[in-house]
Amino acid sequence: MKFKLLSLTCFCLLLAARAAAGPNVVMIYVDDMGYGDLGVQGAKGFATPHLDRMAAEGMRFTDFYVAAPVCSASRAALLTGCYPPRVGIHGALGPKSKTGLNPDEMTLAEMLKAKGYATAMFGKWHLGDHPDLLPLKQGFDEYLGLPYSNDMWPENPKARAGSYPPLPLLEGAQAAVPQVTAEVQASLTTRYAERAVQFIRQHQAAPFFLYVAPSMPHVPLFVSGKFKGKSAQGLYGDVIEEIDWAVGEIMGALKQSGLDGNTLVIFASDNGPWSIYGNHAGSPGPFRESKGTCWEGGIRVPCLMRWPGQIPAGSVCRKMAGTIDILPTVAALTGAPLPEKKIDGMDISPLLRGVAGAESPHDSLLFYYGKNELQALRSGPWKLMLPHAYRTIERLGADGLTGLHGKAVIGLELYHLEQDPGETRNQASAEPAVVARLSALAQAARGELGDALTQTRGRGQRPPALVDWP
Ligand code: MG
Repeated sequence: MKFKLLSLTCFCLLLAARAAAGPNVVMIYVDDMGYGDLGVQGAKGFATPHLDRMAAEGMRFTDFYVAAPVCSASRAALLTGCYPPRVGIHGALGPKSKTGLNPDEMTLAEMLKAKGYATAMFGKWHLGDHPDLLPLKQGFDEYLGLPYSNDMWPENPKARAGSYPPLPLLEGAQAAVPQVTAEVQASLTTRYAERAVQFIRQHQAAPFFLYVAPSMPHVPLFVSGKFKGKSAQGLYGDVIEEIDWAVGEIMGALKQSGLDGNTLVIFASDNGPWSIYGNHAGSPGPFRESKGTCWEGGIRVPCLMRWPGQIPAGSVCRKMAGTIDILPTVAALTGAPLPEKKIDGMDISPLLRGVAGAESPHDSLLFYYGKNELQALRSGPWKLMLPHAYRTIERLGADGLTGLHGKAVIGLELYHLEQDPGETRNQASAEPAVVARLSALAQAARGELGDALTQTRGRGQRPPALVDWP
Protein backbone atom coordinates (compact mmCIF):
# COMPACT_ATOMS: atom_id res chain seq x y z
CA MET A 1 0.00 0.00 0.00
CA LYS A 2 2.79 2.35 1.03
CA PHE A 3 4.69 1.45 -2.14
CA LYS A 4 1.59 2.09 -4.27
CA LEU A 5 1.10 5.52 -2.71
CA LEU A 6 4.75 6.34 -3.24
CA SER A 7 4.65 5.30 -6.88
CA LEU A 8 1.43 7.26 -7.39
CA THR A 9 3.12 10.33 -5.87
CA CYS A 10 6.14 9.78 -8.12
CA PHE A 11 3.89 9.46 -11.16
CA CYS A 12 2.04 12.71 -10.26
CA LEU A 13 5.33 14.54 -9.68
CA LEU A 14 6.57 13.25 -13.02
CA LEU A 15 3.44 14.50 -14.79
CA ALA A 16 3.75 17.90 -13.06
CA ALA A 17 7.42 18.15 -14.01
CA ARG A 18 6.57 17.24 -17.58
CA ALA A 19 3.79 19.82 -17.78
CA ALA A 20 6.16 22.50 -16.41
CA ALA A 21 8.73 21.53 -19.04
CA GLY A 22 6.33 22.28 -21.86
CA PRO A 23 5.21 20.03 -24.69
CA ASN A 24 7.25 17.54 -26.64
CA VAL A 25 7.89 18.77 -30.16
CA VAL A 26 7.91 16.55 -33.24
CA MET A 27 8.94 18.28 -36.47
CA ILE A 28 8.43 16.31 -39.69
CA TYR A 29 10.04 18.06 -42.69
CA VAL A 30 9.65 16.22 -45.99
CA ASP A 31 11.70 16.89 -49.10
CA ASP A 32 10.09 18.41 -52.23
CA MET A 33 6.46 17.52 -51.47
CA GLY A 34 4.01 19.88 -53.18
CA TYR A 35 1.18 21.93 -51.74
CA GLY A 36 -1.27 19.80 -53.73
CA ASP A 37 0.03 16.48 -52.38
CA LEU A 38 -2.23 16.27 -49.34
CA GLY A 39 -5.57 14.52 -49.69
CA VAL A 40 -7.20 17.50 -47.96
CA GLN A 41 -5.56 19.79 -50.52
CA GLY A 42 -6.75 17.89 -53.57
CA ALA A 43 -4.17 15.11 -54.13
CA LYS A 44 -5.18 12.70 -56.88
CA GLY A 45 -4.03 9.14 -57.52
CA PHE A 46 -2.83 8.45 -53.99
CA ALA A 47 -4.19 8.75 -50.46
CA THR A 48 -2.86 10.46 -47.32
CA PRO A 49 -5.26 9.26 -44.60
CA HIS A 50 -2.89 9.90 -41.69
CA LEU A 51 -2.02 13.43 -42.79
CA ASP A 52 -5.69 14.12 -43.47
CA ARG A 53 -6.48 12.91 -39.94
CA MET A 54 -3.72 15.17 -38.59
CA ALA A 55 -5.48 18.08 -40.35
CA ALA A 56 -8.85 17.00 -38.92
CA GLU A 57 -7.40 16.83 -35.41
CA GLY A 58 -5.31 19.99 -35.72
CA MET A 59 -4.73 23.05 -37.88
CA ARG A 60 -4.05 23.30 -41.60
CA PHE A 61 -2.14 26.34 -42.81
CA THR A 62 -3.05 27.59 -46.29
CA ASP A 63 -0.49 30.43 -46.45
CA PHE A 64 2.62 28.85 -44.98
CA TYR A 65 6.03 29.56 -46.51
CA VAL A 66 9.59 28.36 -46.58
CA ALA A 67 12.26 31.09 -46.67
CA ALA A 68 13.92 29.70 -49.82
CA PRO A 69 12.74 27.18 -52.46
CA VAL A 70 15.76 24.90 -52.04
CA CYS A 71 16.97 22.35 -49.49
CA SER A 72 19.91 23.71 -47.46
CA ALA A 73 18.72 27.32 -47.29
CA SER A 74 15.22 26.16 -46.32
CA ARG A 75 16.54 23.84 -43.59
CA ALA A 76 18.85 26.51 -42.17
CA ALA A 77 15.82 28.81 -41.81
CA LEU A 78 13.76 26.11 -40.09
CA LEU A 79 16.42 25.24 -37.53
CA THR A 80 17.56 28.80 -36.71
CA GLY A 81 14.44 30.94 -37.16
CA CYS A 82 16.52 33.16 -39.46
CA TYR A 83 16.35 34.07 -43.13
CA PRO A 84 19.08 32.10 -44.93
CA PRO A 85 21.35 35.12 -45.64
CA ARG A 86 21.42 36.00 -41.95
CA VAL A 87 23.16 32.69 -41.26
CA GLY A 88 25.05 32.55 -44.57
CA ILE A 89 23.49 29.42 -46.07
CA HIS A 90 22.45 29.52 -49.73
CA GLY A 91 21.20 26.94 -52.22
CA ALA A 92 21.92 23.24 -51.77
CA LEU A 93 25.28 22.23 -50.30
CA GLY A 94 27.17 19.47 -52.11
CA PRO A 95 29.18 16.56 -50.65
CA LYS A 96 32.38 17.63 -48.84
CA SER A 97 30.98 21.12 -48.60
CA LYS A 98 33.46 23.72 -47.39
CA THR A 99 30.66 25.59 -45.64
CA GLY A 100 27.80 24.64 -43.38
CA LEU A 101 25.59 25.93 -40.62
CA ASN A 102 27.79 27.78 -38.16
CA PRO A 103 27.90 25.98 -34.78
CA ASP A 104 27.76 29.48 -33.25
CA GLU A 105 24.14 29.70 -34.36
CA MET A 106 21.58 28.33 -31.91
CA THR A 107 19.45 25.59 -33.46
CA LEU A 108 15.98 24.55 -32.37
CA ALA A 109 17.62 21.42 -30.92
CA GLU A 110 20.16 23.42 -28.88
CA MET A 111 17.46 25.76 -27.63
CA LEU A 112 15.38 22.85 -26.33
CA LYS A 113 18.38 20.87 -25.06
CA ALA A 114 19.23 23.83 -22.82
CA LYS A 115 15.70 23.46 -21.45
CA GLY A 116 16.34 19.82 -20.56
CA TYR A 117 14.85 18.20 -23.66
CA ALA A 118 16.17 14.97 -25.14
CA THR A 119 16.79 15.54 -28.85
CA ALA A 120 17.05 13.31 -31.91
CA MET A 121 17.11 13.65 -35.65
CA PHE A 122 16.32 10.96 -38.21
CA GLY A 123 16.66 11.88 -41.86
CA LYS A 124 18.32 14.29 -44.26
CA TRP A 125 20.57 16.89 -42.65
CA HIS A 126 22.03 18.97 -45.51
CA LEU A 127 23.60 21.75 -43.43
CA GLY A 128 27.22 20.68 -43.84
CA ASP A 129 28.57 17.12 -43.99
CA HIS A 130 31.94 17.78 -42.32
CA PRO A 131 32.13 15.83 -39.01
CA ASP A 132 32.30 19.13 -37.11
CA LEU A 133 29.01 20.29 -38.61
CA LEU A 134 26.80 17.20 -38.36
CA PRO A 135 23.67 17.03 -36.15
CA LEU A 136 25.52 15.75 -33.05
CA LYS A 137 27.46 19.04 -33.08
CA GLN A 138 24.29 21.09 -33.55
CA GLY A 139 22.23 20.04 -30.54
CA PHE A 140 21.04 16.53 -31.36
CA ASP A 141 21.77 13.67 -28.94
CA GLU A 142 21.11 11.05 -31.56
CA TYR A 143 21.19 10.96 -35.37
CA LEU A 144 20.53 8.54 -38.21
CA GLY A 145 20.28 9.73 -41.77
CA LEU A 146 21.79 10.93 -45.03
CA PRO A 147 24.13 13.92 -44.69
CA TYR A 148 22.69 15.57 -47.84
CA SER A 149 20.31 14.87 -50.76
CA ASN A 150 19.79 11.32 -51.96
CA ASP A 151 20.57 12.27 -55.60
CA MET A 152 24.15 13.30 -54.66
CA TRP A 153 24.94 9.67 -55.19
CA PRO A 154 27.29 7.82 -57.58
CA GLU A 155 24.42 5.71 -58.92
CA ASN A 156 22.35 8.74 -59.92
CA PRO A 157 21.79 8.33 -63.70
CA LYS A 158 22.45 12.03 -64.29
CA ALA A 159 25.76 12.02 -62.36
CA ARG A 160 28.98 11.95 -64.35
CA ALA A 161 31.28 9.09 -63.45
CA GLY A 162 33.14 9.97 -60.27
CA SER A 163 31.24 13.21 -59.73
CA TYR A 164 29.85 12.11 -56.38
CA PRO A 165 31.65 10.28 -53.58
CA PRO A 166 29.95 7.25 -52.00
CA LEU A 167 26.81 8.33 -50.15
CA PRO A 168 26.89 7.12 -46.54
CA LEU A 169 24.01 6.48 -44.18
CA LEU A 170 25.25 7.98 -40.93
CA GLU A 171 24.66 6.85 -37.37
CA GLY A 172 25.92 9.75 -35.31
CA ALA A 173 29.07 10.80 -37.16
CA GLN A 174 29.95 7.27 -38.32
CA ALA A 175 28.88 5.51 -41.50
CA ALA A 176 26.35 2.84 -40.56
CA VAL A 177 26.26 2.03 -44.28
CA PRO A 178 29.35 3.39 -46.11
CA GLN A 179 27.84 3.13 -49.59
CA VAL A 180 24.12 3.48 -49.88
CA THR A 181 22.64 1.19 -52.52
CA ALA A 182 19.25 1.31 -54.22
CA GLU A 183 18.08 -1.22 -51.65
CA VAL A 184 19.12 1.04 -48.78
CA GLN A 185 17.43 4.03 -50.45
CA ALA A 186 14.23 1.98 -50.59
CA SER A 187 14.47 1.34 -46.84
CA LEU A 188 14.99 4.96 -45.71
CA THR A 189 11.43 6.13 -45.07
CA THR A 190 10.68 3.07 -42.94
CA ARG A 191 14.07 3.15 -41.15
CA TYR A 192 13.56 6.77 -40.11
CA ALA A 193 10.01 6.02 -38.95
CA GLU A 194 11.10 2.99 -36.92
CA ARG A 195 13.82 5.00 -35.18
CA ALA A 196 11.36 7.80 -34.46
CA VAL A 197 8.93 5.35 -32.87
CA GLN A 198 11.74 3.77 -30.82
CA PHE A 199 12.88 7.20 -29.63
CA ILE A 200 9.35 8.14 -28.53
CA ARG A 201 8.98 4.87 -26.59
CA GLN A 202 12.34 5.44 -24.88
CA HIS A 203 11.47 8.99 -23.84
CA GLN A 204 8.01 8.74 -22.34
CA ALA A 205 9.20 10.34 -19.11
CA ALA A 206 11.35 13.19 -20.40
CA PRO A 207 10.40 16.07 -22.69
CA PHE A 208 11.81 15.58 -26.17
CA PHE A 209 12.38 17.22 -29.52
CA LEU A 210 12.23 14.82 -32.44
CA TYR A 211 13.15 16.02 -35.93
CA VAL A 212 12.22 13.62 -38.72
CA ALA A 213 13.35 14.67 -42.20
CA PRO A 214 12.44 12.01 -44.77
CA SER A 215 14.82 11.86 -47.75
CA MET A 216 11.75 11.34 -49.93
CA PRO A 217 9.98 12.41 -52.12
CA HIS A 218 13.19 13.97 -53.48
CA VAL A 219 14.29 12.19 -56.69
CA PRO A 220 15.54 9.52 -57.23
CA LEU A 221 12.37 8.04 -55.76
CA PHE A 222 12.52 4.82 -53.79
CA VAL A 223 9.86 3.01 -51.83
CA SER A 224 9.86 -0.09 -49.67
CA GLY A 225 8.27 -3.33 -50.87
CA LYS A 226 5.17 -2.85 -48.74
CA PHE A 227 4.15 0.26 -50.70
CA LYS A 228 5.51 -0.52 -54.17
CA GLY A 229 2.80 -0.50 -56.82
CA LYS A 230 0.07 0.44 -54.37
CA SER A 231 -1.09 3.83 -55.63
CA ALA A 232 -2.88 4.58 -58.89
CA GLN A 233 -0.52 7.51 -59.56
CA GLY A 234 2.61 5.31 -59.71
CA LEU A 235 5.93 5.52 -57.87
CA TYR A 236 5.52 9.12 -56.63
CA GLY A 237 2.14 8.22 -55.13
CA ASP A 238 3.63 5.08 -53.54
CA VAL A 239 6.38 7.20 -51.95
CA ILE A 240 3.88 9.68 -50.51
CA GLU A 241 1.74 6.85 -49.18
CA GLU A 242 4.79 5.45 -47.34
CA ILE A 243 5.54 8.89 -45.87
CA ASP A 244 1.90 9.14 -44.81
CA TRP A 245 2.21 5.72 -43.17
CA ALA A 246 5.34 6.93 -41.34
CA VAL A 247 3.39 9.91 -39.99
CA GLY A 248 0.71 7.46 -38.83
CA GLU A 249 3.35 5.33 -37.05
CA ILE A 250 4.71 8.38 -35.22
CA MET A 251 1.24 9.56 -34.20
CA GLY A 252 0.35 6.02 -33.12
CA ALA A 253 3.45 5.81 -30.91
CA LEU A 254 2.56 9.13 -29.27
CA LYS A 255 -0.95 7.91 -28.55
CA GLN A 256 0.20 4.54 -27.18
CA SER A 257 2.72 6.31 -24.94
CA GLY A 258 0.03 8.59 -23.53
CA LEU A 259 1.79 11.64 -24.98
CA ASP A 260 -0.86 12.78 -27.44
CA GLY A 261 -2.10 15.69 -25.33
CA ASN A 262 1.40 16.88 -24.50
CA THR A 263 3.01 16.85 -27.93
CA LEU A 264 3.03 19.43 -30.69
CA VAL A 265 3.46 17.72 -34.06
CA ILE A 266 4.33 19.85 -37.09
CA PHE A 267 4.39 18.60 -40.67
CA ALA A 268 5.73 20.67 -43.60
CA SER A 269 7.76 20.41 -46.81
CA ASP A 270 11.13 22.08 -47.40
CA ASN A 271 10.11 23.54 -50.78
CA GLY A 272 7.65 22.98 -53.62
CA PRO A 273 7.68 19.99 -55.97
CA TRP A 274 10.54 19.34 -58.40
CA SER A 275 8.15 19.55 -61.32
CA ILE A 276 10.71 19.04 -64.09
CA TYR A 277 10.68 15.35 -63.11
CA GLY A 278 7.13 15.01 -64.45
CA ASN A 279 5.45 11.91 -63.04
CA HIS A 280 8.19 11.63 -60.37
CA ALA A 281 7.25 15.03 -58.92
CA GLY A 282 4.33 16.22 -56.89
CA SER A 283 1.81 18.97 -57.49
CA PRO A 284 2.06 22.65 -56.57
CA GLY A 285 -1.74 22.72 -56.33
CA PRO A 286 -3.18 25.97 -57.69
CA PHE A 287 0.19 27.74 -57.66
CA ARG A 288 2.61 28.87 -60.37
CA GLU A 289 5.96 27.14 -61.05
CA SER A 290 7.75 24.92 -58.52
CA LYS A 291 10.96 24.22 -56.57
CA GLY A 292 13.85 26.54 -57.41
CA THR A 293 11.65 29.58 -58.04
CA CYS A 294 10.09 32.21 -55.79
CA TRP A 295 6.71 31.87 -57.46
CA GLU A 296 4.16 30.47 -55.01
CA GLY A 297 4.68 26.91 -56.31
CA GLY A 298 8.25 26.99 -55.03
CA ILE A 299 7.74 28.56 -51.62
CA ARG A 300 4.20 27.91 -50.38
CA VAL A 301 4.16 24.48 -48.78
CA PRO A 302 1.75 22.10 -47.09
CA CYS A 303 1.77 22.62 -43.32
CA LEU A 304 -0.18 20.92 -40.54
CA MET A 305 0.11 21.36 -36.78
CA ARG A 306 -1.52 19.17 -34.18
CA TRP A 307 -1.64 19.45 -30.38
CA PRO A 308 -4.90 18.09 -28.99
CA GLY A 309 -6.52 20.40 -26.45
CA GLN A 310 -4.33 23.36 -27.44
CA ILE A 311 -4.77 23.71 -31.21
CA PRO A 312 -8.45 23.71 -32.24
CA ALA A 313 -9.32 20.50 -34.10
CA GLY A 314 -10.25 20.80 -37.76
CA SER A 315 -9.17 24.44 -37.96
CA VAL A 316 -7.69 26.28 -40.94
CA CYS A 317 -5.27 29.20 -40.61
CA ARG A 318 -5.22 31.53 -43.63
CA LYS A 319 -2.75 33.99 -42.15
CA MET A 320 0.76 34.37 -43.52
CA ALA A 321 3.38 32.43 -41.53
CA GLY A 322 6.52 30.47 -42.25
CA THR A 323 9.17 28.02 -41.14
CA ILE A 324 11.19 30.88 -39.60
CA ASP A 325 8.37 31.19 -37.03
CA ILE A 326 8.68 27.66 -35.70
CA LEU A 327 11.73 28.29 -33.45
CA PRO A 328 10.32 31.41 -31.72
CA THR A 329 6.86 29.79 -31.43
CA VAL A 330 8.34 26.69 -29.81
CA ALA A 331 10.32 29.00 -27.51
CA ALA A 332 7.08 30.68 -26.44
CA LEU A 333 5.27 27.37 -25.88
CA THR A 334 8.09 25.75 -23.89
CA GLY A 335 9.44 28.80 -22.05
CA ALA A 336 12.87 28.26 -23.62
CA PRO A 337 14.89 31.49 -23.90
CA LEU A 338 15.33 32.73 -27.47
CA PRO A 339 18.80 32.73 -29.05
CA GLU A 340 20.88 35.75 -28.07
CA LYS A 341 21.64 36.54 -31.70
CA LYS A 342 19.02 38.31 -33.76
CA ILE A 343 16.47 36.11 -35.51
CA ASP A 344 13.73 36.86 -38.06
CA GLY A 345 10.88 34.55 -37.11
CA MET A 346 8.08 35.52 -34.75
CA ASP A 347 5.83 33.81 -32.24
CA ILE A 348 2.68 32.59 -34.01
CA SER A 349 1.27 30.72 -30.98
CA PRO A 350 -1.87 32.96 -30.96
CA LEU A 351 -2.58 31.68 -34.49
CA LEU A 352 -2.02 28.09 -33.35
CA ARG A 353 -4.38 28.49 -30.42
CA GLY A 354 -7.03 29.98 -32.69
CA VAL A 355 -7.19 33.22 -30.66
CA ALA A 356 -9.99 35.37 -32.11
CA GLY A 357 -8.63 38.24 -34.18
CA ALA A 358 -5.04 36.92 -34.16
CA GLU A 359 -3.09 38.20 -37.16
CA SER A 360 0.20 37.29 -38.81
CA PRO A 361 2.94 39.05 -36.84
CA HIS A 362 4.83 39.83 -40.08
CA ASP A 363 4.65 43.05 -42.10
CA SER A 364 6.32 41.04 -44.83
CA LEU A 365 7.93 37.70 -45.56
CA LEU A 366 11.04 37.62 -47.75
CA PHE A 367 12.01 34.95 -50.28
CA TYR A 368 15.59 34.27 -51.30
CA TYR A 369 17.05 32.05 -53.98
CA GLY A 370 20.37 31.63 -55.77
CA LYS A 371 23.40 33.04 -54.05
CA ASN A 372 21.49 35.40 -51.82
CA GLU A 373 19.12 36.97 -54.34
CA LEU A 374 16.11 38.67 -52.77
CA GLN A 375 13.66 37.61 -55.48
CA ALA A 376 10.26 38.28 -53.91
CA LEU A 377 8.37 39.39 -50.84
CA ARG A 378 4.81 39.18 -49.59
CA SER A 379 2.98 41.72 -47.46
CA GLY A 380 -0.68 41.13 -46.60
CA PRO A 381 -2.34 39.82 -49.77
CA TRP A 382 0.28 41.39 -52.05
CA LYS A 383 3.36 39.73 -53.52
CA LEU A 384 6.07 41.73 -55.20
CA MET A 385 8.36 39.90 -57.61
CA LEU A 386 11.68 41.71 -57.93
CA PRO A 387 13.47 41.81 -61.30
CA HIS A 388 15.43 38.60 -61.80
CA ALA A 389 16.05 35.61 -64.05
CA TYR A 390 14.60 32.22 -63.13
CA ARG A 391 14.37 28.68 -64.45
CA THR A 392 11.25 27.59 -66.27
CA ILE A 393 10.36 24.18 -67.61
CA GLU A 394 10.35 23.67 -71.38
CA ARG A 395 9.87 19.94 -71.40
CA LEU A 396 8.89 17.63 -68.55
CA GLY A 397 10.96 14.59 -67.72
CA ALA A 398 9.48 11.22 -66.82
CA ASP A 399 10.18 8.05 -64.84
CA GLY A 400 13.14 9.48 -62.96
CA LEU A 401 14.79 11.35 -65.82
CA THR A 402 14.88 15.11 -65.86
CA GLY A 403 13.36 17.30 -68.61
CA LEU A 404 14.61 20.50 -70.17
CA HIS A 405 14.92 23.83 -68.40
CA GLY A 406 14.37 27.19 -70.05
CA LYS A 407 15.19 30.62 -68.70
CA ALA A 408 12.80 33.50 -68.08
CA VAL A 409 13.43 37.06 -66.96
CA ILE A 410 10.88 39.15 -65.11
CA GLY A 411 10.78 42.77 -64.10
CA LEU A 412 8.96 44.32 -61.16
CA GLU A 413 5.61 42.51 -60.94
CA LEU A 414 2.81 42.67 -58.40
CA TYR A 415 0.19 40.02 -57.65
CA HIS A 416 -2.84 39.92 -55.35
CA LEU A 417 -2.62 36.42 -53.88
CA GLU A 418 -6.15 36.30 -52.49
CA GLN A 419 -7.80 37.25 -55.79
CA ASP A 420 -5.16 35.65 -57.98
CA PRO A 421 -3.35 32.80 -56.18
CA GLY A 422 -1.96 31.52 -59.48
CA GLU A 423 -0.05 34.81 -60.07
CA THR A 424 -1.45 35.40 -63.55
CA ARG A 425 -2.37 39.12 -63.47
CA ASN A 426 0.45 41.59 -62.90
CA GLN A 427 -1.04 44.60 -61.07
CA ALA A 428 2.15 46.68 -60.88
CA SER A 429 1.01 49.50 -63.18
CA ALA A 430 -2.48 49.63 -61.62
CA GLU A 431 -1.21 49.78 -58.02
CA PRO A 432 1.79 52.12 -57.87
CA ALA A 433 1.28 52.91 -54.17
CA VAL A 434 1.41 49.21 -53.26
CA VAL A 435 4.52 48.73 -55.41
CA ALA A 436 6.14 51.68 -53.64
CA ARG A 437 5.29 50.34 -50.17
CA LEU A 438 6.59 46.82 -50.91
CA SER A 439 9.66 48.23 -52.69
CA ALA A 440 10.50 50.17 -49.54
CA LEU A 441 10.17 46.96 -47.49
CA ALA A 442 12.53 45.23 -49.95
CA GLN A 443 15.01 48.08 -49.69
CA ALA A 444 15.02 47.90 -45.89
CA ALA A 445 15.51 44.12 -46.09
CA ARG A 446 18.52 44.56 -48.40
CA GLY A 447 20.16 46.87 -45.88
CA GLU A 448 19.81 44.22 -43.20
CA LEU A 449 20.26 40.92 -45.08
CA GLY A 450 21.92 41.92 -48.35
CA ASP A 451 20.88 41.11 -51.90
CA ALA A 452 23.08 39.84 -54.72
CA LEU A 453 20.69 41.21 -57.38
CA THR A 454 21.47 44.78 -56.28
CA GLN A 455 24.98 43.98 -54.98
CA THR A 456 23.99 45.00 -51.48
CA ARG A 457 25.79 43.74 -48.41
CA GLY A 458 23.58 43.58 -45.31
CA ARG A 459 24.48 44.78 -41.82
CA GLY A 460 22.92 41.70 -40.24
CA GLN A 461 24.61 38.97 -42.30
CA ARG A 462 26.59 36.44 -40.26
CA PRO A 463 29.15 34.02 -41.72
CA PRO A 464 28.56 30.29 -42.18
CA ALA A 465 31.04 27.78 -40.81
CA LEU A 466 34.11 27.28 -43.00
CA VAL A 467 35.80 23.90 -42.82
CA ASP A 468 38.86 22.16 -44.24
CA TRP A 469 38.71 18.66 -45.59
CA PRO A 470 41.85 16.53 -45.47
MG1 MG B 1 13.90 19.96 -51.01
